Amino acid sequence: MRNLEPALKGGRLAPDDYHKNFSDLHPPMDRHEAAVEADRCYFCYDAPCMTACPTEIDIPLFIRQISTDNPLGAAKTIFDQNIFGGMCARVCPTETLCEEACVRNTAEEKPVEIGLLQRYATDKAMAENKQFYTRAAETGKRVAVVGAGPAGLACAHRLAMTGHDVIVLEAKEKPGGLNEYGLAAYKTVDDIAQKEIAYLLEIGGIEIRGGQMLGRDFTLDELRRDYDAVFLGLGLGGVNALGVAGEDLTGCEDAVDFIENLRQADDLSTVSVGSHVVVLGGGMTAIDAAVQSKLLGADEVTLCYRRGPAAMGASKFEQELAASRGVFIRHHLAPKEIIGEDGRVSGVLFEHTEIRDGKLVGTGQTGVIAADHVLKAIGQTFTTDHLDGLKLVNGRIAVDAEGHTSLPDVWAGGDCIKRGEDLTVTSVQQGRDAAIAINHVLAGEAPLASAVA
Ligand SMILES: Cc1cc2nc3c(=O)[nH]c(=O)nc-3n(C[C@H](O)[C@H](O)[C@H](O)COP(=O)(O)OP(=O)(O)OC[C@H]3O[C@@H](n4cnc5c(N)ncnc54)[C@H](O)[C@@H]3O)c2cc1C
Ligand code: SF4
Repeated sequence: MRNLEPALKGGRLAPDDYHKNFSDLHPPMDRHEAAVEADRCYFCYDAPCMTACPTEIDIPLFIRQISTDNPLGAAKTIFDQNIFGGMCARVCPTETLCEEACVRNTAEEKPVEIGLLQRYATDKAMAENKQFYTRAAETGKRVAVVGAGPAGLACAHRLAMTGHDVIVLEAKEKPGGLNEYGLAAYKTVDDIAQKEIAYLLEIGGIEIRGGQMLGRDFTLDELRRDYDAVFLGLGLGGVNALGVAGEDLTGCEDAVDFIENLRQADDLSTVSVGSHVVVLGGGMTAIDAAVQSKLLGADEVTLCYRRGPAAMGASKFEQELAASRGVFIRHHLAPKEIIGEDGRVSGVLFEHTEIRDGKLVGTGQTGVIAADHVLKAIGQTFTTDHLDGLKLVNGRIAVDAEGHTSLPDVWAGGDCIKRGEDLTVTSVQQGRDAAIAINHVLAGEAPLASAVA
């Protein structure tokens, strides 16, 4: 919960600057630009980009459809595999996925801009509300999906396509999970998260109930009793504690809370930010928190990571993006204490680190970076409460290759399982594939025993 002093304040920028700073990271392509870019594709047989995409979109086919001026056909090719193709086009780290694998990605050339082409096609379909899917004949089966993030909603959409009735139970008031509450504001302009959900719900057969929390409003046992199958797309509800003195000082908060507040603000000038911000962490959340602090008008933003650049979870592109927005990235600094005055953050005491015999160790040399705002982005954790009877592995829900948990009628996917990277596109793939597996079981085509003992 945010409870920050006036020193962390909003309104650091002129009103127009908010709009300018938080406009689209990559502006969309127009028809001509899309045609020119599509022409760069070699339409490879056995295209490596397809294998690199977790949802295995037929990329050469959709790019060929764009090159023949058939963007709606291209959108269908994308949605067939990934109903969140619009959001993924904006937020996928393409530089480590499809575009990294593109054969044109060489020292002399840049890869085909697959993400932007995907956006061109999906934006057109959504703008025209072109619907490609109808429901199969109703099966009379009811499936409960817990969590309305990309995993839960991708699962719900595929289940609805196959004729099942889906009830999505979501703890928050708005659906979308981190699409709505977590992704960077400059990647998700124009309320795209809610527009995309409205688009996919048009299929029918999906009811979303907000303000419904597993463990508070219902139990897993009750869902298993009342529904034919259950899918858990719970995401990661917790955050790691820093474990140093001063974490409770005013002005020190979790980066995910800061970002959620920013994403939900109707007026960005009301979002409080310090003048000197220190962000702790090296992943996507740390980069997003740092960049958005700077864009909100902080004078100085320093992102401190305890290891070197190669170990950072954030991709090279993201690190460069932060640097280009004026974020100062410092490596090999481990926080030892959040320092305060009168109950408020005034700085962070760091110890320099190095790798010795393959291990990260402190050098004993310390220093202080002055700060009035500290954002902790040192990783999220899965909240394992209220999951009685479910086997866990490495602190997340254990599943087999099809997302089947240790309970015969319960599946799971997205960040709450440990498979692949914690990304939007991976969550969509896992939700979709679990729905296909659930459908097989409900049709009596697969055994009810899970491979997870
Ligand atoms: C700050 C930040 C930036 C990110 N940026 C990117 C990016 O640029 N690109 C990218 O690909 N990925 C990014 N990610 C990762 C991506 O957002 C996640 O991998 C993805 O959203 C996971 O989807 P999910 O459906 O598993 O979980 P979530 O999106 O977390 O959704 C889970 C849903 O379950 C609900 N829920 C939780 N517990 C309960 C309960 N007990 N009862 C009912 N409902 C419950 C939650 O309220 C939530 O709506 C980012 C993550 C963060 C934190
Ligand atoms: S979903 Fe993401 S990884 Fe897959 S093709 Fe689209 S942008 Fe690339």
